[in-house]
Amino acid sequence: MSYNNTIKRLKLLENAKPYYSEKQLASIEHAIDFASKAHAGQKRASGEPYISHPLSVADILVDWGMDIDSVLAGILHDTIEDTETLDADIEKLFGKDVAFLVNGVTKVSKARSGMRNLDNYLPQTKDNLSKLLIAVGQDIRVIIIKLADRQHNLSTLQYLPKKKQQKIARESLEVFAPMADRLGMGRVRMQIEELAFSYLDPVEFKKLKILMRKRLGKSTRKLGEVRVQVETELKKHNIKFEVNGRVKSVYSLHKKLQKVDGNIDNIYDLMALRVIVDKKEDCYLVLGILHSLYQPMISRIKDYISTPKPNGYQSLHTTVITPNEQIVEFQIRTQEMHEYAERGLAANFHYNEQKTTKDYIKSKKSSTLPANMQWITQLQSVVTKLKQDEKISKDQLNVDLFVDRIFVYSPKGDIYNLPEGALPLDFAYLVHSDIAKHTYGFRVNNKIHPFDKPLQNGDVIEIITRKLSLPKQAWQEMVTTTHARNKLRGQLRQIGVIGIITNATSIMRRKSDRKKEKEENAIKK
Ligand code: MN
Repeated sequence: MSYNNTIKRLKLLENAKPYYSEKQLASIEHAIDFASKAHAGQKRASGEPYISHPLSVADILVDWGMDIDSVLAGILHDTIEDTETLDADIEKLFGKDVAFLVNGVTKVSKARSGMRNLDNYLPQTKDNLSKLLIAVGQDIRVIIIKLADRQHNLSTLQYLPKKKQQKIARESLEVFAPMADRLGMGRVRMQIEELAFSYLDPVEFKKLKILMRKRLGKSTRKLGEVRVQVETELKKHNIKFEVNGRVKSVYSLHKKLQKVDGNIDNIYDLMALRVIVDKKEDCYLVLGILHSLYQPMISRIKDYISTPKPNGYQSLHTTVITPNEQIVEFQIRTQEMHEYAERGLAANFHYNEQKTTKDYIKSKKSSTLPANMQWITQLQSVVTKLKQDEKISKDQLNVDLFVDRIFVYSPKGDIYNLPEGALPLDFAYLVHSDIAKHTYGFRVNNKIHPFDKPLQNGDVIEIITRKLSLPKQAWQEMVTTTHARNKLRGQLRQIGVIGIITNATSIMRRKSDRKKEKEENAIKK
């Protein structure tokens, strides 16, 4: 083992020490030795011996609070796919569960690479998609290991050729970040998004980072005053609390800017203050105190405690206006809610004796598994049916892992994520606005497809372009995403198609803006 990897190995064992028994720690060492031997001679693109990758993946899994089987599977996750190691070898040495997890991870990546090289794509795609679902459904830990794998690959992306960087970065934003989000793993989602976005659009990333730094510099001192004021008030009420500042991520700023016409002045939560308390009742108490101190913006009060987000996220959000006209967002939550918001489902595996997701769900069903995460149970029932070779309809297969999203493919097998009901032009603008601009028609699953017919999960879409084909006004009725709409509008303006229309709509918009302004002013008063 190289010097660097010896250090990595020691670090992993040290990080693992507080959480696992002596026997489990010994099994970690055993797995490292086994994987080192299996990967002997293989190198990462960075030039390091391959074992540095699985060691990092395992370290991430320890950090996320995963159980011992996941950590072992993390160390072994590339052995079946990339080395001579057999399924049975792993089962013999590390047990059935670890072998099952490694197999699941291998299946997922095979399903994915299958998608990438499709010749006769349609039937295969569906098959691969269901394989992916089966792997996920049998054990949610498979996806969590996959996420750790992806996170480390993203952090070593600088060693890959540009084209591959772009591909991995895009796929991470399209597939892996939403998966982390689905599992409530907020911190991981953010890390994946930031890294991927910095590769996908380095210019925009840098620009926004600088813009944000400038903005924050101005408001940090003022925010400090608000913070002191709030702390003083909460102490008066004898509430146990902790206040932290949280800065918006560059990627979420980018996404939000697209929604508010690019004006950073319309973004109120660039920096937010987070109040963490002991009890749920205290959250509402704090909300009341904040609202008696400052004027809240009524439309921005959100109670995700009584109604958690679909991924289980809980918090109270409120945006207030301070006497010196500063707009500040507050997020109020208990320590437990905070832990979940950051670590999501993964946090629940720590010290957990349950071996499989099925047991896990059984044990959690009545207690802490949020009602909104029923899709996990739903997934389980589909898997059981699949295993028993029962006929299931396509609807059942579309388990709500992504309730309102669909996944579609380019003819090359690149995967894209769109909202349900999206139209072919939404896809075209997602791929590239310069391609979309010259769209002449679409072929979906090898058949000509009208512009106004929604896409379905698993569709393979080919954009037919003609150099002389240009955007048409009517296209405005045939896009559903904000992204496509904005790009299209820009193009129409550029070629002078929406002169007159713009006037009419802009008058209407001005009217509604004025109305909005009045409302906001009324709130301020
Ligand atoms: Mn890997």
